[in-house]
Amino acid sequence: MNATQTPVVVAVAITGSVPRKSDNPAVPVTPDEQIESTHAAFEKGASLVHIHVRNDDESPSSDPERFARVQEGVRRHCPGMIVQFSTGGRGRDPSQRGSSLYLKPDMASLSTGSVNFPTIVYENSAAFVSELATAMRTHGVKPEIEIFDLSHLHGARRLVDAGLMDEAPHVQFVMGVKNALPAEEHLLDVLLAELRRVLPKASWTAAGIGVNQARVMDWALARGADAVRTGLEDNIRVTKDRLASGNDELVALAAEAIDRHGRRVATAAQARELLGLAPG
Ligand code: ZN
Repeated sequence: MNATQTPVVVAVAITGSVPRKSDNPAVPVTPDEQIESTHAAFEKGASLVHIHVRNDDESPSSDPERFARVQEGVRRHCPGMIVQFSTGGRGRDPSQRGSSLYLKPDMASLSTGSVNFPTIVYENSAAFVSELATAMRTHGVKPEIEIFDLSHLHGARRLVDAGLMDEAPHVQFVMGVKNALPAEEHLLDVLLAELRRVLPKASWTAAGIGVNQARVMDWALARGADAVRTGLEDNIRVTKDRLASGNDELVALAAEAIDRHGRRVATAAQARELLGLAPG
C-alpha cells in the first residue's frame, strides 16, 4: 500500500491536565465521564485514547486506581481500542509519573527531553527519561515519543542505541505550545526530515495545540501521517466562538479531514497493526 491508501489512526486525548469544566463543560474528569466520552469518540472513529486522570477537584492525579478504572471501562466498552497512559509532567510528582505502567496499557507517552511550557519548565532529565523507558520496556508498553523540540528526536535515538526502545517507536510532534515549537508548516518538514534520518522505521503523527489543531492535522495528512491527534486536552473549541460539544465532535471533524485527504479512518484492529501492537 502506498501512503494514500493506508488507513489513518485517530488518537483522542480526552482530558489532559489543563482544561477544566469551567473552560468547557464537556471536559471529562471522573473515570465514569472519561469512559463515556471515550466511548462516544470510539463510535465516531477514534482507535487510540490518550489518558490523564484527575482528582475530584480536577487537579492532575497519578492514582493507579483511577488509571485502572478508566482502562478497564475502555477495554469493556470500546473493543480493541488502544489505551495510552500519559506519563506527562504538568502538576504531577515526577516519581509518580510512571507509577501506573505496571497496569500494562498498550502504550504510554514518553517525553525525551526538557522544554519550556507556558508557565513552567517541563523537566525530563536524561536519567529520568531512561528510567521511564526502562519501566515501559519491563512492562511491555510501547512508547509514543513526544517531540516538543528537535533535540528530543535525538533523545529518542539514544534510547534505541541504549537498547531501551525498539527501532520503530510511534512519534508525535507537538506544535503550538507557547514557548516551545511554534505551529509553522515548514517546521514540520524539518522535523520529518530529521525523523527519517534518525528513526527511519518510526510511525508518526502531529498534534496542534488550541487554534492550531485543525491546521496541523491538515499538514500531517498532506505528508502521509500514520495518525492524527485530536481531543479536548489540546483544544476545546470548534471555532473561535463555539466550544466543542465533546471529544466525539472533534473526532468527527478529524474523520472529515481524513476523508478530504482521500484516506480512510483506521478501525481499532487496523490501528493496532499499523502501530505494531498485539491484537486487542
Ligand atoms: Zn497528554
